[in-house]
Amino acid sequence: MKHGRSRVVPALVASLALAVACCTVAAPRDNIHDWAWLSDVEARRRPPFRIFDNVAYVGLDWVSCYLIETSAGLILIDALYEPYTETLLDNIRALGHDPADVAYVIVTHGHWDHAGGAGTLQEKLGARIVMGAADWDLVDRDSSSGNTHFTPAREDLALGDRETLTLGDTTLTFHLTPGHTEGSLSVEFPARDGETTWRALTYGGVGINFSGPERLKTYSDSVHRIMARGPFDVSLTNHPGMARVFPRARDLTARGPGEPHPFVDRPAMADFLEQRLEAARQALAGNP
Ligand SMILES: [Zn+2]
Repeated sequence: MKHGRSRVVPALVASLALAVACCTVAAPRDNIHDWAWLSDVEARRRPPFRIFDNVAYVGLDWVSCYLIETSAGLILIDALYEPYTETLLDNIRALGHDPADVAYVIVTHGHWDHAGGAGTLQEKLGARIVMGAADWDLVDRDSSSGNTHFTPAREDLALGDRETLTLGDTTLTFHLTPGHTEGSLSVEFPARDGETTWRALTYGGVGINFSGPERLKTYSDSVHRIMARGPFDVSLTNHPGMARVFPRARDLTARGPGEPHPFVDRPAMADFLEQRLEAARQALAGNP
C-alpha cells in the first residue's frame, strides 16, 4: 500500500466505471451513472433503525452499513463512502452510541461504495479495518484510478476463509466468496432476538460485473460454498434492496408479541443464493 494520498472528493465524472461495476444489482438503473444522485446526502440518508437486539442499520437508501453491538464495543459491516462518513457517525450516535467505540470495520469488498469511507473511519475512530487480502490490493488500485478517487485505509487486517474475529461476547466468521471481486468477504454473525440467536450472513459481493467462464466458475463456486455452509437464517445484504431490508423493517415495527421476526427468512436466503447461480448461468450462456 502506498500512503499519503490526498483526499479528493469524487467529482461528477468520477466513479462512472466503478458505479457500473458495483451497483448493477442494487442501484436504480436510471441513476447508475449519476454521481449527483449518488452523493446527494439528504436524499440518500435514512434514519438508522434496529433490526435485532444486537444489530442495527446505519446505512444509506441504496448501500448498506450494519452496526453490531457487542459487550466490548461496536463492529461495522462496510464503510459507505464520502460524503457519507458524517452521516454514518450521526446514525451511530442516534442509536445512543459513541462512534469512538467502533473497534472494527469489516469491508465486504474493495469497491468505492463499501470501502470508500474506511480511511476516514480508521483515522477518526482508530478502528481496525478488515478486508479480504486480495481486496487490499484492489483498493490500492481503484482508489487512485482515473475513474474514482478516495483516500484508502492504510492496509490493516486481511482475514481469509473460515477465520474468525471475536469482540467481547460476539464472534464473526468470515467466508471468502471471490467472484464480484477477488477478495470478497462474506460475514457471518449472530443476530439475537430475545432468547433466540439466529445465523445471519452478509454476502460479500453480489453483482456479476465481469465476464469469462473462469471467473464465473469462481463466482458460482463461492455461492455453492455458502450453500454448503448454511443454512443461514437471515440475509443482511450489502445493498438493502437485495434483501428487502426496508420493507422488512416496516414489518418489524408492526410485529406483535410472539410473531415471527420478519428478517428471519431461510427460504429467502436460499432463493437469493439460487438466483446468483442462475445469473451466473445466464452470463455464461451469453445472456446476462
Ligand atoms: Zn462492488
